[in-house]
Amino acid sequence: MNKKNIRVRFAPSPTGPLHIGGVRTALYNYLFAKHNGGRFILRIEDTDQSRFVPGAEEYIIESFKWCGIQFDEGVVTGGPFGPYRQSERKKMYKQFAEQLITSGDAYYAFDTAEELNQIRKHYEAEKKTFIYNAVERKRLKNSLSLSEQEVSELIDKNTPFVVRFKMPEDHTIIMNDLVRGKVEVNTKSLDDKILFKSDGMPTYHLANVVDDHLMQISHVIRGEEWLPSLPLHLMLYNAFGWEAPEFAHLPLLLKPEGNGKLSKRDGDRLGFPVFPLQWKDPKSGEVSSGYREEGYFPEAFINMLALLGWNPGDERELFSMDELVDDFSLERVGKSGSKFDPEKAKWFNHQYLIRKSDAELAGLFLPVLKKKGISTDLQTVTKIVGLVKERVNFVHELWGESYFFFQSPESYDEKAVKKRWKAVSYDQMNELKTVLTGIEEFTPVNTESVVKNWIEEKGYGMGVVMNAFRLLIVGVLKGPHLFAIITLIGKEETLERINRGLEMLGRKEVVNDN
Ligand code: GLU
Repeated sequence: MNKKNIRVRFAPSPTGPLHIGGVRTALYNYLFAKHNGGRFILRIEDTDQSRFVPGAEEYIIESFKWCGIQFDEGVVTGGPFGPYRQSERKKMYKQFAEQLITSGDAYYAFDTAEELNQIRKHYEAEKKTFIYNAVERKRLKNSLSLSEQEVSELIDKNTPFVVRFKMPEDHTIIMNDLVRGKVEVNTKSLDDKILFKSDGMPTYHLANVVDDHLMQISHVIRGEEWLPSLPLHLMLYNAFGWEAPEFAHLPLLLKPEGNGKLSKRDGDRLGFPVFPLQWKDPKSGEVSSGYREEGYFPEAFINMLALLGWNPGDERELFSMDELVDDFSLERVGKSGSKFDPEKAKWFNHQYLIRKSDAELAGLFLPVLKKKGISTDLQTVTKIVGLVKERVNFVHELWGESYFFFQSPESYDEKAVKKRWKAVSYDQMNELKTVLTGIEEFTPVNTESVVKNWIEEKGYGMGVVMNAFRLLIVGVLKGPHLFAIITLIGKEETLERINRGLEMLGRKEVVNDN
């Protein structure tokens, strides 16, 4: 058997930034194409000029570049089925609308927007909804209700018209969706959708079906919000006498609480991005955050998205793009929506971060340090990063866990001082200075054993000494192993910090010591 050539497409409309649900749709298309040795196409659907937003197409392209999703054909790459931007294919669509008029599957409609609004209002007053359908069209102004002569007169007079699809009155359409299985719908519930507008542009429905056919698309994998359009699309393929592609409608990405589609408002409300890259609205100037700018690694972002709707059938959670390509199948895409989990998104980033080598992370951290005016060498930063990387989810969080390696404390945590700076601390820390000064080889192992021996010999409280010591070195009671810190900052800096701390905190009065 000849396996059909697999060709899939992602077909965004450049009406704003790309929602992460759209990125996931593109990702599943990409994985499906690569898994099956097929081709992946980027087509820009910009026929609705009223919704065009400058910069949106560039944003879409840059997003995929960042994600590592590559197209085999499309607006950037070109290819044998171009142009891939629908506005550049404009001339092509008219003949297809005319073909449907000739075959009796479509008709001219001359109703003006005001006339239709009037009827709609009338219906609303009676608590009914107006639908331009098989029943209503008989009494509206179109080439089905008017005589041939009336129609040609209207056209001769340049009366604006649209072309509508003639939906059969009572016909059951059986659809087979690769995710949802068999879906049935009766045309009674459907309206006569506009295929071609008075401005000479096709609507989404016509352009989408014509282009999927001309570009030889084998599988249409898209969001569930397009499922209601499927009956019309299948009817269109039928009317043209074309073989329809296979369809897979992907479940929605849901709000973290689970009810309803994940929206930008959810992101704003709960503080996570819903766009891959930061977006500045050209009209309002409003800035929406992006995964890239928030510090996510593209691999982590992709891994997280892949698992929001697809599962490998086992417990694995970490997948490289190549592993996803190997394992992906539409059979394992779930029918129900997936709740977006902002904490899980961070977890994925953490997993990718801790798996990076200390040297690679140090390379990413250096520019952050430079911005803070800290000049240091890669070797030192590599060691520091190795000590703290388990504690962070993002590269930019490394600073919060390691600033004390680069600067001595400017102040000391009040609560910790109250609790841990004891009456004995001043003298103990003074003594400690002498102990540390005497250590020749200032290594973690040496310093630890010498200091601990001294504590034991003197019969001091281990906790009392170590907490006071940490307070003077770090300023707060946190951070990695203290002996790792002091050996990295060096003997001289360690002694300086103890001196400064002694000066700042002074001797604690015994009365307050509890
Ligand atoms: N242009 C549509 C969109 O913006 C494409 C839908 C489809 O894939 O058919 O999502």
